[in-house]
Order: sequence, then structure tokens, then C-alpha cells
Amino acid sequence: MTDLAERKMRFLYSLRSKGVTDARVLTAMEKIDRGDFVKGLFAERAYEDMPLPIACGQTISQPSVVALMTQALDVSPRDKVLEIGTGSGYQAAILSQLARRVYTVDRHRRLVREAEAVFQRLGLTNITAIAADGSHGLPDQAPFDRILVTAAAEDAPGPLLAQLREGGIMVLPVGQSDTVQSLIKVTRSPTGYEYDELRPVRFVPLVEGLGQE
Ligand code: SAH
Repeated sequence: MTDLAERKMRFLYSLRSKGVTDARVLTAMEKIDRGDFVKGLFAERAYEDMPLPIACGQTISQPSVVALMTQALDVSPRDKVLEIGTGSGYQAAILSQLARRVYTVDRHRRLVREAEAVFQRLGLTNITAIAADGSHGLPDQAPFDRILVTAAAEDAPGPLLAQLREGGIMVLPVGQSDTVQSLIKVTRSPTGYEYDELRPVRFVPLVEGLGQE
């Protein structure tokens, strides 16, 4: 087996050992190559289970966290999904394998532009990337069946809760500091919102306004 094939096999094995059991999620993680989303110096570490730096001082999340968040989101093939925090585009690409349509928003235009180029190169035509402040959601496309936030806020932003369809699920990291955060699953029922705490995580903060380039 080539070195690359072996690294990819270990990558999938390590996801399973960290609790990723959903076959559709594992298939998506196998099909979408994280190496396409990591550039330069760090590209050779793409198959290690660690976050890596990307442009604009941001990070591509740890693959096991991407997989566990995707699994918690419980996406169906007919779903319209909103992701806040495009970053490298890797998480959006994983979601594109499981959902009908993915909207992904980042406050840095450069990240949106670079992610779009990768989506195009890989033929991922069901993703729309938009430069905007995601804490307002995407009112024009709402409601969403699923919402995934990949930057940490103190609390679930009101506009995102409002743009979640009844029966919909939102997964997001919340916490007051950048060291102590919890991954939360919010389910919207006809009578309100139910909150489940999933696990401790560490994400870059959700920042208001568009990035200065
Ligand atoms: N999901 C990404 C990693 C996200 S890193 C991936 O798969 O690579 C978090 C991202 O959230 C950063 O790119 C940051 O620019 C973005 N972000 C932070 N605050 C934001 C906001 N208010 N609206 C949109 N994006 C935001």
C-alpha cells in the first residue's frame, strides 16, 4: 500500500475509534479529501487528527470533531443546511455529501473565495458560499432543516434559532472564553427549543461584522 493510502486508512480508523459510527458520515469523510483544503506547509499533516492553520488567522477543525458534529446534526438527503464559518470549506464539503443543498457563510471574503474555488474544482455544485456576518443567519434562504456553527458564541444567536425549521436541529459550540466551550445540540419542537450538551470543544470565536482584508 502507498504511504498516502495507508495514512488515509489510519485516518478513517481513528475516526471510528473516536465514536464516529454513522456509515453515511464515514463514507463522506472517506470521499472528501482533507488534503484538498489544507495548503502549503501543513498539507502533509492533512490526515492527522488535529486542527491546522488556514488563511486569515483561522483554523480547519480537527477531523474527528468535524465528523462528530456532522453525526450529531443527523442530516437527511432532502435537507437544506446552513453552516456558519466556511473557513477552508472542508466541513461544508462533508455536508454537501449528505444534504440536498448547503449554504455556508464566512466573514472573510478571501476564505469564501478560496473555498469556492475548491468546491468548483471538486464539482461540489450543491454548495453556495457567501461572505457575510453569519450571526444574522441567512434570512433570504430561511428556514433551514439543519444549522451548524463552527465558531463559538456565548450563546445560540437569536436569528439562527429563529431560522431553524420546526423539527430542525442546530449544533454549535457555546462558551464565554476560548478555552472552555461546550458543543450543544438544539432541537426545535412545536413548543420551543430543547438543549443537549454533547462534549467539550475548542473553536475560534464568532466575531461580529465582515473581516477587514
Ligand atoms: N468550518 C471550517 C472551520 C471554521 S473556523 C472548516 O471546515 O475549515 C471558524 C470560521 O468562522 C472562520 O473562518 C471565521 O472567519 C468564521 N467566523 C467567525 N465569526 C463569523 C461570523 N460572525 N460570521 C461568519 N463567519 C464567522
